Amino acid sequence: KNTLIEVKNLKKYFPVRKDIFLGKVQYIKAVDDISFHINEGETLGLVGESGCGKSTLGRTIIRLYDSTEGDVFYKGKNISRMKEKDIKPYRRKMQVVFQDPYASLNPRMTVDQLIKEPLSIHNIGSEKERSERVYELLEKVGLNPSYFNRYAHEFSGGQRQRIGIARALAINPEFILCDEPISALDVSIQAQVVNMLEELQNEMGLTYLFIAHDLSMVRHISHRIGVMYLGKLVELADSNELYNRPAHPYTQALLSSIPVPDPRLAKSKIKTILEGDVPSPLNPPSGCKFRTRCKYATAKCAEIEPQMKDIGGGHMAACHLFD
Ligand code: SF4
Ligand code: MG
Repeated sequence: KNTLIEVKNLKKYFPVRKDIFLGKVQYIKAVDDISFHINEGETLGLVGESGCGKSTLGRTIIRLYDSTEGDVFYKGKNISRMKEKDIKPYRRKMQVVFQDPYASLNPRMTVDQLIKEPLSIHNIGSEKERSERVYELLEKVGLNPSYFNRYAHEFSGGQRQRIGIARALAINPEFILCDEPISALDVSIQAQVVNMLEELQNEMGLTYLFIAHDLSMVRHISHRIGVMYLGKLVELADSNELYNRPAHPYTQALLSSIPVPDPRLAKSKIKTILEGDVPSPLNPPSGCKFRTRCKYATAKCAEIEPQMKDIGGGHMAACHLFD
């Protein structure tokens, strides 16, 4: 298996001015020293509660954000420090599908214009070739090509997400950051979109980083799954292994909170419920960041931050229970 993306000790800190009189600047450590890799053709799932840094990690990898420290290698090339002009060819290779397909699609543009936009940004094809590409892409994502001159608001949530996916595919990317692409959709539509993404992956040889807030959404599409908590990667393993033998207490808690999907229930009712609140990222706990919610926490957990280590067969976890 070839590595497509390698992330090394990546950090993304956001300055927050806490006290305007003292002028003291604090930082939110949204991504705090994270390392992992993504293989070509693989789907790496990334889960964790809202605000744990998943989107920031994804966006820092594809250079929508500059990293604070650390490196991202794309096919061995360090793209985290490249100048804007050098990174352009890599921007073509990396696309995003966002959570809210409505907010991410300009309401004043037709489907045709929306899908053509990345082609014109990257100067690809003649006008005729672009129109043919739109036709082909709409078919690929299961939409009737005759819809090309309609506006996004004329479509359902699931159809809008298909338009967002067609737009992301327009310039033949290799890597797609799927940032909660199904979280805003009705449960009945989620599986359809996931299946389509899987088919497109096989057909086009795509690699995905697939972000979701609960494990049930990424289980089937992911080859491996990473779990994030307060800016840290706390566990990473093959999808089935993580499911059958979750090692980190946070992953265990996430798994035991997996809701049974029931399309008759409102979306708010099937939300993942985990005991206790996530501590403020401005003032995270010392040592292990999960210790304020962990039933196994000891004095050591408050003093020493656990590091990711292999606990067998490539299964990685950061917890003192495995020291
Ligand atoms: Fe719990 Fe300690 Fe492991 Fe953190 S290091 S998850 S507090 S047992
Ligand atoms: Mg997010």
